[in-house]
Amino acid sequence: SVTFEHVNKRFGRTQVLHDICLQVPGGQTTCIVGPSGSGKSTLLRCTNRLEEPDEGRVLLGDTEVTDRSANIDAVRARVGMVFQNFNLFPYRTALDNITLALRRVRKLPAEEAAERAREQLASVGLAGLEHRRPAQLSGGQQQRVAIARALAMEPEVMLFDEATSALDPELVKGVLSIMRDLAGQGMTMIVVTHEMRFAQEAAGQVVFLDHGRLIEKAAPDKFFGAPESPRLQAFLSAVT
Ligand code: ATP
Ligand code: MG
Repeated sequence: SVTFEHVNKRFGRTQVLHDICLQVPGGQTTCIVGPSGSGKSTLLRCTNRLEEPDEGRVLLGDTEVTDRSANIDAVRARVGMVFQNFNLFPYRTALDNITLALRRVRKLPAEEAAERAREQLASVGLAGLEHRRPAQLSGGQQQRVAIARALAMEPEVMLFDEATSALDPELVKGVLSIMRDLAGQGMTMIVVTHEMRFAQEAAGQVVFLDHGRLIEKAAPDKFFGAPESPRLQAFLSAVT
């Protein structure tokens, strides 16, 4: 689980997160939706301290991520992250992209790391493409390598920040179906997304942020079927 307690974050004079309190239960998917600039990425990045809150606490399980004495490398090793732009190493093969962290962080021997990487690539439908570099893969395939790389580390929590936003429409489906499978397997996930269908079908809870405030949080049926706040109603009618 991940817990956000009274999280405030400012960039200079601009407050981008206002007193966010959110419980992300283990074993299910929490989707975060909201307009551009509402603070979705900033909140997500507080989970593994890519951003540091100015006030408030973030907990990963029982570990206080925001504690100054927290071992941040250990925290990051427990959190897998998938970005909009894949963030693969361009001059490394798909296989090497995955084995690098397994060897450096998990200290696996080369053969074992390669074996685990091949299994993960197969599980996202990329068997046989191990030796391609990112430029030799489609955007959807690159994103699946990024997902496989994160999963190979056996994270407790997976974070997705608009993982399908940079993909051509025909490639979105494959990536979403992998994410849906992960959700179905009980992976703990926080997913920032514009894919309302995905949120509706895969999420345990959906959260609406607007101007850095958590405006509404509900199970998907309620969230999409009977939104309470006018701001969420307006947002949903604009995007669906
Ligand atoms: P989008 O849907 O466009 O990705 P978002 O909801 O993820 O938006 P954030 O990226 O979290 O929004 O940004 C929230 C606010 O914080 C925005 O006003 C943004 O301009 C500002 N912001 C984000 N990162 C920084 C930064 N490093 N320095 C200054 N301002 C920032
Ligand atoms: Mg963002």
